[in-house]
Amino acid sequence: MKTKYVYAFEDGNKEMKSLLGGKGANLAEMTKIGLPVPPGFTVSTEACNQYYKNNKSIDDEMVDELFQHLELLEEKIGKKFGSNEHPLLVSVRSGSVFSMPGMMDTILNLGLNDETVVALSIATGNERFAYDSYRRFIQMFSDVVLNIPKYKFEHILDREKDLHQLELDTELTVQNLKNIIQSYKELVKKEWKKDFPQEPKEQLLMAVKAVFDSWDNPRAMVYRDLHDIPHHLGTAVNIQSMVFGNMGNTSGTGVAFTRNPSTGERKLFGEFLMNAQGEDVVAGIRTPQSIAHLKNVMPEAYDQFVTVANLLENHYKDMQDIEFTIENSKLYLLQTRNGKRTAAAAINIAVEMVEEGIIDRNTALVRIDPIQLDQLLHPTFEEKALNEAEKIAQGLPASPGAATGRVYFNAHDVVKAVSEGEKAILVRQETSPEDIEGMVACSGILTARGGMTSHAAVVARGMGKCCVAGCGEIKVDETNKIFKVNGEVYQEGDFISLDGNIGNVYKGSIPTKEPELSGNFGKLMEWADDVRSLKIRTNADTPRDAAIAVKFGAEGIGLCRTEHMFFEEERIPAVRQMIVAKSLEERMTALDKLLPYQKEDFVGIFTAMGERPVTVRLLDPPLHEFLPHSDEDIRMLAGQINIDIKTLKETVEELKEFNPMLGHRGCRLAITYPEIYEMQVKAIIMAAIEVKKEKNIHVEPEIMVPLIGHEKELKIIKDLIISTANKIIASSDTKIEYMIGTMIEVPRAALTADEIAEHAEFFSFGTNDLTQMTYAFSRDDSGKFIGEYRKKEIFEKDPFQRLDQVGVGKLMKIALDLGKTTRPDIKLGICGEHGGDPDSIDFCHRIGLHYVSCSPYRVPIARLAAARAAVLNK
Ligand code: ADP
Ligand code: MG
Ligand code: MG
Repeated sequence: MKTKYVYAFEDGNKEMKSLLGGKGANLAEMTKIGLPVPPGFTVSTEACNQYYKNNKSIDDEMVDELFQHLELLEEKIGKKFGSNEHPLLVSVRSGSVFSMPGMMDTILNLGLNDETVVALSIATGNERFAYDSYRRFIQMFSDVVLNIPKYKFEHILDREKDLHQLELDTELTVQNLKNIIQSYKELVKKEWKKDFPQEPKEQLLMAVKAVFDSWDNPRAMVYRDLHDIPHHLGTAVNIQSMVFGNMGNTSGTGVAFTRNPSTGERKLFGEFLMNAQGEDVVAGIRTPQSIAHLKNVMPEAYDQFVTVANLLENHYKDMQDIEFTIENSKLYLLQTRNGKRTAAAAINIAVEMVEEGIIDRNTALVRIDPIQLDQLLHPTFEEKALNEAEKIAQGLPASPGAATGRVYFNAHDVVKAVSEGEKAILVRQETSPEDIEGMVACSGILTARGGMTSHAAVVARGMGKCCVAGCGEIKVDETNKIFKVNGEVYQEGDFISLDGNIGNVYKGSIPTKEPELSGNFGKLMEWADDVRSLKIRTNADTPRDAAIAVKFGAEGIGLCRTEHMFFEEERIPAVRQMIVAKSLEERMTALDKLLPYQKEDFVGIFTAMGERPVTVRLLDPPLHEFLPHSDEDIRMLAGQINIDIKTLKETVEELKEFNPMLGHRGCRLAITYPEIYEMQVKAIIMAAIEVKKEKNIHVEPEIMVPLIGHEKELKIIKDLIISTANKIIASSDTKIEYMIGTMIEVPRAALTADEIAEHAEFFSFGTNDLTQMTYAFSRDDSGKFIGEYRKKEIFEKDPFQRLDQVGVGKLMKIALDLGKTTRPDIKLGICGEHGGDPDSIDFCHRIGLHYVSCSPYRVPIARLAAARAAVLNK
C-alpha cells in the first residue's frame, strides 16, 4: 500500500502531532470539536522526510495527492484555485512537531496573481483589500521562497509612504498599492531573473518545497540544538483556505493566551490589530491593542472569543496560546497550542489548575519542566542598590528576571563578548530569528519595538531569559552601535540593567540577591517531596553553599570536596610545604599545621547541615595542582617556605605529569603518602566529636575514598581510616559512628564492584570521571570536538551534561548489581554533574539509586525531576 501523505483537517486529531506537526494536529482537533477553523489539509512530516530522501524533490505521486486534496477543498469552499470569478486563496504554513517560534515561515494569500487579484477585488467589492493582499503575498513569497531579502521590499513600501506622507500601512490607497506591486515585481525580476510566478499551482508547489527546505536552515538547527529537538523529525506543511483580517474596520487579527504567560494570572492576555493580517501583530509594525479592548470594538466577537478560549483551555486542560482572525465580524481560529510560559507562570498555572480541579497533582508535577525552575533560582536585584539606581526607560515586561551587563548591538558582538567572559545585554530595534545565538549567549534582551508577543518576548520567555521589549523611548542605531534615551547616548560596552518583571531599564550595573522558594513554588515542592523516592543531596564544600542547599531542600551532602579547602590563602603555604617535604617528619609538621584548619572546615559544614548526612571525599587532585609553575612564582615560593630554588624547581619538575587526569591522584596519593588522608580523617572525626559535645549535633560522617580501581587499594586505606578514627574516638569520651565508602569512577572498580563492596559501605558514582574514563576523553579537552559530534548526531547531547545511559549507565548498573551481591544494603548515590540533570535523574531512579547529589542551586530542580521520575515510571 502506498503511504498517505496528505490529511484533510477532518481526518486528524491532537494525538497525531508526530505526523501532522503541532499546528496541523491542533487545527484538526479544533475542526473535530466544531470550532470555526478555515478548512484545509496537512502534508505530513513523513512527506517531508520522503522529500529529503528523494534528494529534495517532491515526487509525482505526492503532487497528485496534494492536488486531489486541493480539489476537495475547492468543492468544500465553493471557490477555485486560479479562478477569475471566485479565486481560492490559501496560506501555506509550516508546522513541526514541537513549536519553533519564528523559525519557519508562513505565506499568506497564495493563489493571487495579476488576474485573480482583479477577481478578488470584484468578488469582495473591496479593491484596496485585494491589492493589499497581493502586495503582502508577493512580499512573503519572495522572502520565503525566492530568498529575496525582506528589507528590500520594506524599502519600497516605505518609499511609497514617504512620497505620499503617509504614516501607517492602512493609509495606503489602491493606487499606492498598485505602484508598490509594480515595484515589487520589478525587484523580483531583477533579483530572481524571472517574472514573479503567476501560476497558482506552481506557487503552491514552490511554497511547499520552501517549507520543507526551511527545516534545514541554520536558524532552525540552532533552535533545535538548544531545545534538544532531534533533527530527523521533519516538518509538516499546512495548506489552509484564507480568511481575511485586512478587509476593513470590522476585521482584524490577534493572538491571546488563556492565562498570563509571565505571571500565570487567570485572565485573558493578548493583543490584536484591526484591519490587519497575520504577522502584523507580532512584527511590531503597528502597536497592537490589548485584547480587553476588543470588547469595546467588537463586543460580539469578543464574547465569542472568550467562550472559545475557555472551551479550548478545558479541552486541552492547559493554558492555550490562540491565534485568531476576525473577518467582517466573524471569528475564525487559526491556531492553538499549549502556551509557552515563564517558570513562575508554569508553577502558578499548574498549582491553580490543581486547585480548580482541572488536573491532578501528578499531572502538575509532570507538566513543569524541572530545568525551567532555574529561572526562579537566580538572583534578583538588591533592593537598596535598586532604589539608588537611575531608571532611564520603561518598556514592556516581556520576560522576567534581573540582568546586568554591557550593551552590544548584534548577536555576533554579544557572542564574542560573552566568550571573553563578559556579561552582555543584547540591544536591538527588534529581534529576528537571525539573532538567536546572541539571545542564547546574552544575560538579557532589550528591544525598542514589538509587543508582548513579539519575537524577542516569545523566545526570551522560552529560554527563561530576562527581556524588556517594545521600549519605544530608546532610539537604537544598530549601525553606529549606540542607543539614545533622554538625550543621553549609550555606547557599545556601557553597563545597563534590566528588570524583566516590570520592564524597567537602568543605567549602570546593579548587584543582585538570592531568590526564595515560597507560595505556589513551595507548595509544588512539597507535592514533589511527597511522591519522590530518590533523596536529594548537594555537592557543597563550604558552610555557605551547604546553607543555601539546605534552604533549597537538600537532605544531605553527597560530595564535600576537601581540596578546595587547601587552596585558601592562609593554608596554601602549609600545603606546599607538605608537598615539597623531603622526609616524613617534615611532611608531618606541615600536615599538623593544616589539621586545625581542616577540622574547622568540617565543624562549619556539619553545623550548617544539622544532622543531615555528609559525605566527605578525601583529597583527590594530583599534588602539582597546588604548586606554582612559572619561574617567577617558583622563586617567590622558595623564599616563602625557605628552601632553595633549585630543589623546589626539581620537585615541580618531578611532579609534572603527561596525563594528570590519569596520574598520581585520588587514592594513589594515600597509597604513597598515607599521612595526608590520616590528617584528613583526624580532622573529620575531631570535628564530629566537637559538634556533638558543643552543639549537640550528632553526625555520622561518611568518609569517601576517591578513584579506587582495585579492591586492595580500598582495603589498605580503609584500615588506615579505621585505625586513625578509632584512636581518636577512643581517646575522647564520646562515641562517634562513621561510614567508609568509595567513589565508583574508574571502570575497573565498576567491573569488580563485588570485591570492592567487601570494604565499602556505600558507593557514590562519580560520573564525571567515569564518563571520561569510559570514553577515554577528558572533559577539559572534549570541547574541541564535541560540537562536531553533536552536529553529526553521534551524541544527542554532551555526555558530561546528560549521562550516557547506554555505556556509562551500563557500567553503573553492573557495579550496582555486583555491589549488592556482597552487601545487599549498600548505600548508593551519584555525585557527578549528572546528579542535577533531569534525564539522568530519571535514570538514577530507574536503576534504584538511593540519592542524587547536585549543586545547591540545582536542588529544587532535582527534587522536581525525582518526583517526575517517580510519577512517570510508576
Ligand atoms: P507561526 O508558526 O510563525 O505562528 P502561522 O502559520 O501560525 O505561523 O501563521 C502566522 C499567522 O498567519 C497566523 O497567526 C495567522 O494570523 C495568519 N494566517 C495563517 N493562515 C491563515 C489563514 N488561512 N487565514 C488567515 N490568516 C492566516
Ligand atoms: Mg502561529
Ligand atoms: Mg573523580
